[in-house]
Amino acid sequence: MQILIADDTPTDLMVMSAFLKALGHEIVTATNGEDAIDAFLTFKPDLVIMDVVMPGLDGYETVRRLRKLDDDWVPVIFLSACTEPDDIALGIEAGGDDYLAKPFNKTVLKAKMIAMQRIAEMRARLLRVSMELERANQTLRNLADVDGLTGLANRRFLDRHLEVEVDDCISRGLPVSLIMIDIDHFKAFNDKFGHLAGDKCLQQAAKILKGEITRQSDLAARYGGEEFCLVLPNTDIVGATHLAEKIRRQMEERAIPNEGAGEKGIVTFSLGVCTESPSASTSPKKLLKAADTALYEAKQRGRNRVVVHEVT
Ligand code: GH3
Ligand code: MG
Ligand code: MG
Repeated sequence: MQILIADDTPTDLMVMSAFLKALGHEIVTATNGEDAIDAFLTFKPDLVIMDVVMPGLDGYETVRRLRKLDDDWVPVIFLSACTEPDDIALGIEAGGDDYLAKPFNKTVLKAKMIAMQRIAEMRARLLRVSMELERANQTLRNLADVDGLTGLANRRFLDRHLEVEVDDCISRGLPVSLIMIDIDHFKAFNDKFGHLAGDKCLQQAAKILKGEITRQSDLAARYGGEEFCLVLPNTDIVGATHLAEKIRRQMEERAIPNEGAGEKGIVTFSLGVCTESPSASTSPKKLLKAADTALYEAKQRGRNRVVVHEVT
């Protein structure tokens, strides 16, 4: 264990240190309460041995302060020549776990160290397990927000994100843009090449979107099926249209064959863009509906194109 010993009597400190070192422990020392608190925060020991009578902060007050700073309970043993029942009670109330008489008895101290070692190991195990649990929970939380096929955010995440971002843009007086994207004639692609190839095509589509998203605040999500949605906070209609056109071109340039799709016979995107200038009446629903209307129009007008709607 790493043990912090606080004692204002140099000889006591030396004897105790030597004894515990001989038992194989690592020792940090302090000669007053303030230094003990500093050392405690710096070294995060497994055990504290605390003298009661010290000038300045006494042992009780030092431990009371330690307990306020210590999230997990590091064992503290008081060591004092005062061993009346009231002294012991005060020590336990202050946050001590045990109380030993000065001068210490070697056999008793050695036995206590074995008990404390067991507690230290248990604490370390508990800490490890709770950290692993926290990591596992984080992984689960992340998984719950991600679309398994494309690695983009899923619909669940998009809905929540949109609420937050729209509110944020309103309160900051910024515009917010949405791009709805749908793969053209994707049913024909699946029919011709099969669903596995269809899935690969969706992954490629997602890759294009990921590649085009550059700002930290932008989000690319799979809206469902072969539809995607980009949320672009603080982006005006010019910026959003430019991005949509770039994405459309990227897909076209890949020239993934889809004989059933129009004259070009390749996989293409139709995109609906909408931008809402900040107003209190903005809502995620309104934005989604506007982007959807624009997308529908892009389909009507022949697909593989960008249509823009500005919400006012
Ligand atoms: P349009 O140009 O009007 O959008 O035509 P479309 O064929 O793309 O649209 P439609 O809604 O008729 O068909 C969508 C197709 O997308 C049908 C469905 O099988 C396919 N699809 C949706 N989700 C997935 C998926 O996860 N994997 C695969 N392989 N196909 C999917
Ligand atoms: Mg489609
Ligand atoms: Mg669709």
